[in-house]
Amino acid sequence: SLPLVDPAKDPTAKALGYVANAAATKDPAHKAGAVCSNCALYQGKASDKQGPCSIFPGKAVAAAGWCKSYIKKA
Ligand code: SF4
Repeated sequence: SLPLVDPAKDPTAKALGYVANAAATKDPAHKAGAVCSNCALYQGKASDKQGPCSIFPGKAVAAAGWCKSYIKKA
């Protein structure tokens, strides 16, 4: 499986305020219930704990994560 994005080291993650646990973010842009697994850019399966995101090529994000590029899945 792909390596998980490290929120402390990945420059894109830092720029986008990525967190592995959406519930822990204090970013005012975060809306309740928004997580990677219901983001349009998330490519994991519903049952997966992590999956690819087009913002982070070659890496995986946590299904329970979040970042500022979140787009609600239609
Ligand atoms: Fe998660 Fe979406 Fe941000 Fe990717 S773009 S890290 S799936 S919230």
